[in-house]
Amino acid sequence: MVEPGGRNMRVGLPAHAIEVGTEPLARPTRNSVGGWPFLDEDQKWPDCFCGERMVLFFQLDIPSDLEPFGGDHLLVFHCRAHNDASDPQMTGGRLVPRYWDAPQPPFPRPFWRVLLQRDAALPAAEPEPSLRALPLTLRPFTDASAGRGAQMFKVGGVPSWAQFPEHYQCACGTELVYVCQVPEDMEFAVRPGQPEQPYSIGADTYGLFLGNEVYLLACPAHCDPAAVWPVNQN
Ligand SMILES: [Zn+2]
Ligand SMILES: [Zn+2]
Repeated sequence: MVEPGGRNMRVGLPAHAIEVGTEPLARPTRNSVGGWPFLDEDQKWPDCFCGERMVLFFQLDIPSDLEPFGGDHLLVFHCRAHNDASDPQMTGGRLVPRYWDAPQPPFPRPFWRVLLQRDAALPAAEPEPSLRALPLTLRPFTDASAGRGAQMFKVGGVPSWAQFPEHYQCACGTELVYVCQVPEDMEFAVRPGQPEQPYSIGADTYGLFLGNEVYLLACPAHCDPAAVWPVNQN
């Protein structure tokens, strides 16, 4: 359909397909699977409640055309030993206060940490030890503007929603906004000699949230670097 004035009503939303390279990284890169996390100076590498340091699954700079998160650095950490689905804990119609640290029954805290930071200038001294460090390339495309977007590894656009769309209000009162999607059963290649992940698909790969499709919804008010909720569907 075309509006008066000739503008196509089905104009899509900007998005970027995320492609995983095959040539292992030898040095820090801001867009990577595994690799050297770029963390804000006061931000420690997150630990799980079980005592294991969380695995850096991937990180990337969000392109500037993707408001309201353009220019942020996104990092997705998840425990190797804990592999489960996320379970939103609500109070008064909102996610509970400090939901990124709040109990995730039966666990005392979440087994993941997703960060959106604005001042991450320097890489960690050491790379993620368990995953093969691989480059990520972002390729712009136009996703759907309404309904369901493309089912792929992407930042921006519209979620492809395997089930009904889910919406959440941050503990600060702001409606969370979708930022990034990880497709169902995506596998991340592991370096030789690493412990297996429980319930993982392959013996030499790790996955996120039991292989559920992941839709990252983040707080556009940036009330906390960890104010991101990972919706899981399959
Ligand atoms: Zn753990
Ligand atoms: Zn918030």
